[in-house]
Amino acid sequence: MTFGDLELTPLLDGYLRLDGGAMFGVVPKPLWEKRAPADERNRILLGMRPVLVRGERLLIIDAGAGDAMDAKNAAIYALDRTETLDVTLARAGVSADAIEIVLASHLHFDHAGGFTSRQADGMMRPRFVNARYRVNEGEWHDATHPHERNRASYMPHNFLPLHDAGVIDFTRGDETIMPGVRVRRTGGHTRFHQIVYLESGGHTAVFAADLMPTTAHIDEPWIMGYDLYPMETLAFKRHFVREAIEREYLIFFEHDPKIAAGYIRETNGKKHVEAVEEK
Ligand SMILES: [Zn+2]
Repeated sequence: MTFGDLELTPLLDGYLRLDGGAMFGVVPKPLWEKRAPADERNRILLGMRPVLVRGERLLIIDAGAGDAMDAKNAAIYALDRTETLDVTLARAGVSADAIEIVLASHLHFDHAGGFTSRQADGMMRPRFVNARYRVNEGEWHDATHPHERNRASYMPHNFLPLHDAGVIDFTRGDETIMPGVRVRRTGGHTRFHQIVYLESGGHTAVFAADLMPTTAHIDEPWIMGYDLYPMETLAFKRHFVREAIEREYLIFFEHDPKIAAGYIRETNGKKHVEAVEEK
């Protein structure tokens, strides 16, 4: 979709399944299962939807789970790679080699897995060979110093090879990455989790990452159990959702199983998403 001087293309790196209870935190199952049906292992279906931004440079936000997850985890998460980032990039007319900037919302495996790939010699190397990777320095620190509560979310082979290859440029706060593209820290999900504002021609789109992973998360208390600081998520969301409704932000939902992007609307105090791009 054209957005002023930016061309925005939602991509897909397949699907995975995560525990429905963990995806909705304190919300009881009788409520969440109406929005997201659970399978026999209580898991719900989630997409992995990086976004391609064509502006002054060629940029991609996040990159899905990638191709190097071990078989045990792939089974736990029901990783479905029938449609991958390579396929959807090719469909958009872009080769991975042409990507100039890779921007990370955070370094969890379902966002950063596609940052690297396994080479013929068995080594993990940067998957976008001509790109610089933009990673928040605090998130990098936390990812490389995991604790018992977040260790399963960080897979070092997703990001350590980037450091070894010298392709990371750290961001240190809310920064402009290129004209029309800036990051804003939300905290909440991880200490340094960030969302991406895409602004051009008087319009704003926002890549919401794990602040609102699916359209089922637009109500303020629908917050993931995975979030390390849920009260931070709540505080940020309260303001952000208001802002998104009033200023008509186009929201990219990174994990929605169907809706890649849409507008949050409110009628009689009830929120819903008007889908713009479904698949
Ligand atoms: Zn995450």
